[in-house]
Amino acid sequence: MREESSDILIIGAGASALACAAELAPIAKKQNKKILILEAQKVCARKILISGNGRCNFTNIAAAPDKYYGDKNFITEILKQFPPTECLKFFDKLGLKYINENGRYFPIAGKASAVKECFLNWLENYGVQILEGQTATQIKRNKNLWEVKTQDSIFKTKFLVLACGSKAYPQISGTDLGYTLARQAGHKIKTPAPALFGFDLQEKKALIRIAGIKMQARVWLENYPKNQQTDEITFTSRGVNGNNILTLSRNAKPGSKLFIDFLPQFTDIELTKYLQDRAKQFPNLKTKALLSGILPDSLINLLIDFAHLRKNNRLIDLTPSNFAKIKEKLEAWPFTVAGIRPFEEAYSATGGVLTSEVNAATLRSKCANNLFIIGELLDIDAFCGGYSLHFAFATGISAAKNIGDNLC
Ligand SMILES: Cc1cc2nc3c(=O)[nH]c(=O)nc-3n(C[C@H](O)[C@H](O)[C@H](O)COP(=O)(O)OP(=O)(O)OC[C@H]3O[C@@H](n4cnc5c(N)ncnc54)[C@H](O)[C@@H]3O)c2cc1C
Repeated sequence: MREESSDILIIGAGASALACAAELAPIAKKQNKKILILEAQKVCARKILISGNGRCNFTNIAAAPDKYYGDKNFITEILKQFPPTECLKFFDKLGLKYINENGRYFPIAGKASAVKECFLNWLENYGVQILEGQTATQIKRNKNLWEVKTQDSIFKTKFLVLACGSKAYPQISGTDLGYTLARQAGHKIKTPAPALFGFDLQEKKALIRIAGIKMQARVWLENYPKNQQTDEITFTSRGVNGNNILTLSRNAKPGSKLFIDFLPQFTDIELTKYLQDRAKQFPNLKTKALLSGILPDSLINLLIDFAHLRKNNRLIDLTPSNFAKIKEKLEAWPFTVAGIRPFEEAYSATGGVLTSEVNAATLRSKCANNLFIIGELLDIDAFCGGYSLHFAFATGISAAKNIGDNLC
């Protein structure tokens, strides 16, 4: 077995680890301290590379506690120290140029690899080593140091950072090893479950007719009426996808009712007025004309059938009850969730290391000495839209600051 020592050892070379190492690297170099990062995969930061459909939505100007699920005090402390403006300053320092798309930030290079490369250049410049293909399987304390075992080596270190991410997307790098290592250090784990996935819906016949439609919609689950999300939704022949659907997914169960408001741009009064005006303007046109200015064709046809209207009716013949049915469908069309998707299709996971066992200001473990736990390994998950990466970076940087303060 090879033996190697460092002052700071980070397990995992994903988003949170790279941010932690990048923040710490200049301080460590000044003090002649060695940072090592172990990465199980042959290539590091694989989730950064596939994030945001390969474009990496790395933060969101709206990052605030209401965009996260989990311990609100913990999240508030993390975001207080590292709001989105700090995140942008951090990437300015790394030399990343970015664009703002409705509050979501992406590299101008149009490729997630730009984010990874900025990190790697920075770390190389400060002499931080990333050892790829090294899977940590065991951690233990030995004489005031941490000992970390991989398949062929033992690493000794004063400060140990667990940045192993979650179980989500195992085909890329997701694993439950982080939970195992945290347990070895005395931590409790809330059982993880998939989060941020698209839904399969039961209404297959309807879906086939509207598959391919992408439009703005407001969506919510019957049992969580306050959590309403407006964004672009995509219909497939199997179900629905989109940032708004992903954000709701952690609360979905087979049989859950999903409501879709197809016209979030209208208030109830505005929609009533629009439909009445349209009927007055074109009294002799057929039913479809009522909606042709606001909905895609295939959705209008589906709605006409589901609201039991006659295609050849003229607008002048529509009754108040017909109008009510149309509005009911447009504003809250119920669908039924057929099943939740597995970790392989989930962008993130619920559960993880209990936040009550970690100091929110420093990310220091309350269970073990000089141990830090960062990123998605913690029991916090986020809405879709750059919030997960923001959290990973934020926790990495807070941990780095505390390690930096205690390095000497
Ligand atoms: C398809 C997809 C798209 C996404 N898009 C976005 C997006 O656009 N915006 C956004 O905010 N979030 C996005 N996310 C979520 C985001 O990628 C994660 O929240 C983020 O990467 C978590 O950072 P992390 O450092 O905690 O874990 P990760 O980035 O997953 O890094 C953990 C690393 O640790 C390594 N590791 C684990 N265990 C060990 C071990 N025992 N020994 C050695 N190494 C180990 C893993 O191989 C991995 O490289 C996306 C996720 C997926 C799957």
